[in-house]
Amino acid sequence: MAKTLKPGRLCKLGKDDISKHFRELTQVTRTSNFLCGKCARSASDKKRLCRPLEM
Ligand SMILES: [Zn+2]
Repeated sequence: MAKTLKPGRLCKLGKDDISKHFRELTQVTRTSNFLCGKCARSASDKKRLCRPLEM
């Protein structure tokens, strides 16, 4: 089981991953500049979203 969040897309995370990595996710999303146009997730790095839209 990975202790740190994978570098992949936040869009792929299931609810278990989200609760497991919640602290890390708060860091990644705190300064979000992008919102996924498909999944409505946000991230500071557009590579973490499958359909990033600038906010
Ligand atoms: Zn997405």
